[in-house]
Amino acid sequence: MGKWIEGTVVGQKRWSEHLYSLQVDAEVGAFEPGQWTKLALPVAGEFVARPYSFVNAPKARPHEFFYNTVPDGHLSPRLARLEPMDVVFLAPAASGLFTLAEVPDAEAIWLIATGTGLGPYLSMLRSDALWERFRKVVLVHAVRRAADLAYRELIDAVAARQPERFRAVSFVSREPHAGALAGRIPEAIGDERLERAAGVPLAPQTSQVMLCGNPDMVLDATDALKARGLKRHRHRDPGHVAVEPYW
Ligand SMILES: Cc1cc2nc3c(=O)[nH]c(=O)nc-3n(C[C@H](O)[C@H](O)[C@H](O)COP(=O)(O)OP(=O)(O)OC[C@H]3O[C@@H](n4cnc5c(N)ncnc54)[C@H](O)[C@@H]3O)c2cc1C
Repeated sequence: MGKWIEGTVVGQKRWSEHLYSLQVDAEVGAFEPGQWTKLALPVAGEFVARPYSFVNAPKARPHEFFYNTVPDGHLSPRLARLEPMDVVFLAPAASGLFTLAEVPDAEAIWLIATGTGLGPYLSMLRSDALWERFRKVVLVHAVRRAADLAYRELIDAVAARQPERFRAVSFVSREPHAGALAGRIPEAIGDERLERAAGVPLAPQTSQVMLCGNPDMVLDATDALKARGLKRHRHRDPGHVAVEPYW
């Protein structure tokens, strides 16, 4: 048990059929936006644990995690059954290098997500570092159904606060949706539909890109960016693209 901190569920919001946000009170260590902790539940006498990104700003409480239920998944369907006052276990310390501190300076930062990969960016949007370091911020969120466009109120509030500096672009792939692009992110990078929709140029001289969520999107978008002259960022070989595949 010493490995885990006991948290108390204080809220569970259901956004759509498979999409939820879990709010938890727990005394875990400090984190940077973009980092994650493990959530765990005992199943048949053993802990089942998986990583989840913090959605809340570092100083905001309760902690919040945005997740979807994977059919026959070991942990996520169990998380969805939790109710206020239930216990969920958390790893005591945050982990991960998908943070703004790891991203070089640039004129514009592109925060690109599929599905629940939006989570880390919600925490970043609420951090001062993002607005102090980048003049333009583009948030890109791709989902299958319009009902999966979660956290719109928060995103609209950022847009209202930063009308000159912030752009939000949505993709909805499985049904037409007014105001959203159709299709996939990598193709829209390749044919420049994405930057036209954002009204911000996507170029190695001006841009840093973060990619989070579905591993196919992360791979294919990395390739599409490479064709545009943007390469993976590494400490020893600085570039423009940071990635966090969720599986
Ligand atoms: C660094 C990191 C951070 C993560 N943060 C989040 C987060 O904030 N929110 C979140 O929902 N998930 C996140 N994940 C994924 C999460 O840890 C679990 O893998 C996921 O919830 C499924 O767990 P499970 O036990 O239900 O499924 P398992 O029984 O472990 O089945 C795993 C399979 O589920 C599928 N899968 C995994 N994650 C997803 C997903 N998000 N959407 C669709 N299919 C998926 C894949 O096919 C994978 O092979 C993160 C993963 C990593 C590595």
